[in-house]
Amino acid sequence: MDLLLGSEDLAFRDEVRSFLADNVTPDMRRSVDLTTGFLVEPDVLIELHRALHRKGWSVPHWPVEYGGTGWSPVQRYIFDLECGRAGAAAYNASGSHFVGPVIIRYGTPAQKEKYLPGIRSGEDYWAQGYSEPGSGSDLASLKTRATSDGDDYVINGQKIWTTLAHRANRIFALVRTSSAGKRQDGITFLLIDMDTPGISVRPIIGNGGDHEFNEIFFNDARVPKANRIGEENKGWEVAKYLLEFERGGRVLAGQVRGQFVKLVQLIAARCPDDRELRTRLAELGGDLDAMEMIDVSVLSTQQAGGNPGPISSLLKLRWSEIRQAIAELAVDAAGEEALRWLPERPFYRTLQLPPEEEEIAAVIPRYLNSRAYSIMGGTSEVQTNILAKSLVGL
Ligand SMILES: Cc1cc2nc3c(=O)[nH]c(=O)nc-3n(C[C@H](O)[C@H](O)[C@H](O)COP(=O)(O)OP(=O)(O)OC[C@H]3O[C@@H](n4cnc5c(N)ncnc54)[C@H](O)[C@@H]3O)c2cc1C
Repeated sequence: MDLLLGSEDLAFRDEVRSFLADNVTPDMRRSVDLTTGFLVEPDVLIELHRALHRKGWSVPHWPVEYGGTGWSPVQRYIFDLECGRAGAAAYNASGSHFVGPVIIRYGTPAQKEKYLPGIRSGEDYWAQGYSEPGSGSDLASLKTRATSDGDDYVINGQKIWTTLAHRANRIFALVRTSSAGKRQDGITFLLIDMDTPGISVRPIIGNGGDHEFNEIFFNDARVPKANRIGEENKGWEVAKYLLEFERGGRVLAGQVRGQFVKLVQLIAARCPDDRELRTRLAELGGDLDAMEMIDVSVLSTQQAGGNPGPISSLLKLRWSEIRQAIAELAVDAAGEEALRWLPERPFYRTLQLPPEEEEIAAVIPRYLNSRAYSIMGGTSEVQTNILAKSLVGL
């Protein structure tokens, strides 16, 4: 999208560019670029996050009184686009983009004071404890039980697919505090320290050999009731609010635009005269432009203090499709040469190749990883169901 930027926005863009040029090192850029896992390892990004924090830019989307920047939607868009172009990525979206807005909306003053500074500074790294074996799309069926005992809950049960939980020092989790009535009415939202006795983390190794996912087991883990967000048995509302931010509260345009630019370069270098690939590329470019417009309009809603709302499901669905289409087109453009490379994580740390070969080597791992977009954060089918109910009224 070619925004017609005014002189103030252009000056802002230059400031962002110059900050990123100073703080995104070539090694970090290469690491982000070649990470084939779903998330980039925190140690790759922590220095950038700290620099953003010193600049006052680590949580630009938060209200100003909690450390946000008060940027206009266009400035936020510029910031994310420039981050994408520079090869930067979010340090811990589960903290800054998911649970942060939840604590701001539902947390007590004491909870805000305790948790928000660690998210801003990067001292805390948060994991998401929603899914359980048998409770993914049907999340309300979750069984991890929290039993009241004085000032504490005693937690027993299991979470699964918990991304980078082995790197996290905190986790937000949904637990069952009642089995009476509607399933949604017996769920409570808790903030939990990962070093709580009774919590153990077991790796799930991905089919590429990577350790990104985990299972988490709770065995009589005691969690203070003071860590509860909102009322007991009212966690479903909090959980859904968080999901709106997970699905549609981030500007993905910058990141996806970065991938799209690489795809253009790949096709230009390898098969510039292939009409079919060029047509698909042009269609994708149009889709990307349209999504950027929608991203900015959703940012305007949030600027007015709102949450993304049901449109977050539309964003999640379409961004997944576009990201997967970019990865698929890259495979077709790279051809069978791409098959020489198997995924290996952390890919960037093991690869010693000239830059043009790195791009080819990353094609298959990125394609395999892109399959996750339509599953994580709620599958595409689930988003379609939500849209049917909330927007079309079916
Ligand atoms: C990369 C990645 C990272 C993740 N990170 C985390 C994390 O950090 N924390 C966490 O809690 N979870 C995480 N997850 C788990 C994720 O939220 C679940 O995988 C997802 O919600 C789907 O649940 P499931 O795997 O149990 O699949 P299921 O719910 O069993 O779904 C299986 C299939 O059935 C379809 N289906 C199910 N119900 C319906 C329906 N009603 N209508 C139509 N189709 C339906 C689904 O669309 C899917 O195709 C992650 C997943 C991925 C891929």
